Amino acid sequence: ASILVTGANGFVGAWIVKRALEKGYRVRAAVRTVQKGRHLLESNKVHGDKLEIVAVGDIAKGPLDEAVKGVDAIIHTASPVTLQCDDPKELIEPAVNGAVGILSSALKNGPSVKRIVVTSSFATLLAYSTEPVTVHEGLWNEASVKDVEVNGSKAAPISKYAASKTLAEKAVWKFVEDHKSEINWDVTVINPPWIFGPVVHEVTTLDTLNASNQHFHRGLVKGDFQGTDPLKYPNRGWCDVRDVADAHIRSLEVPAAGGERLLVSNASFVYQDLLDLANSLDPKPYHTLAMGTPGTPIRFVTIDASKADRILALKYKTAEELVRDTFADYTARGW
Ligand code: NDP
Repeated sequence: ASILVTGANGFVGAWIVKRALEKGYRVRAAVRTVQKGRHLLESNKVHGDKLEIVAVGDIAKGPLDEAVKGVDAIIHTASPVTLQCDDPKELIEPAVNGAVGILSSALKNGPSVKRIVVTSSFATLLAYSTEPVTVHEGLWNEASVKDVEVNGSKAAPISKYAASKTLAEKAVWKFVEDHKSEINWDVTVINPPWIFGPVVHEVTTLDTLNASNQHFHRGLVKGDFQGTDPLKYPNRGWCDVRDVADAHIRSLEVPAAGGERLLVSNASFVYQDLLDLANSLDPKPYHTLAMGTPGTPIRFVTIDASKADRILALKYKTAEELVRDTFADYTARGW
């Protein structure tokens, strides 16, 4: 079977490409420019012509009519991930137009497409909370959308990102509903929380590392929590990028995943949990490692990932595997 993967040169996209090729899929990797596909071709060259690169430009601007032709399934990961943005439209337009664009191209030019898996986010379920809450797929983060509607560029940086993901996911479900009599495919949405892990995409310097790994590096290696308490922050779930990649691929294979939102996560965490774990590793990954503030964490968030457990039956990596393998990758790169 063949799959189109958008955002294929990103942190998550590159892992999906790698795992899908290893599982025997033919992969068409969509990136902005041919140049951005070179590292993917090089790092997956054992798979020969099973990997093809397609340059699609800016997904905010146009649909992917050519890219979808002939594939059996699509995994749409492309969407901007940053907390550095002034006008929220810079995130919302590519998120929403990209998601709707891929669905409309599949409707128009993808008669062979059977399933489309869209990478959404935990951020579509919950805004930051200081109240105890159990997070599951029945929730929608209306608060971040409201923050952006009311405050525009003055909204909290996390609200701009969360609103882009929430509006994009809502647009996906609306498209499916509006076109249900015309489409031959169904949609699965994956809602992962913070994704960390070793890197297989092209990263030349630490400053160009993707946003979630920058947080991980800044906190766990440098001990810089940007003024927040590592015993309370971030109070979200985490998931290893390798498990997130497998969740996307399993979603193509399991009929029951069709039409579902799936929260994939090992557990909730505060940074101190991972710091304590890192400090307990033998040998230690770094000569000097941040200690944080050892103590009793204050947890607000409980994750209910039982739906994804039931449907996808993933075997998640442990926090120890995450920390050990990520640090091994960072130290090998001199970070
Ligand atoms: P990256 O920044 O590493 O990757 C984002 C990908 O999207 C890149 O390939 C990027 O291409 C592409 N992209 C973004 N904007 C555009 C655009 N306008 N036109 C074309 N391509 C575009 O981020 P991640 O891999 O971490 O994120 C992938 C997906 O996972 C996103 O949908 C994100 O919202 C979601 N997610 C991520 C989480 C995390 O913790 N990392 C948590 C939950 C969800 P280019 O390099 O050319 O800009």
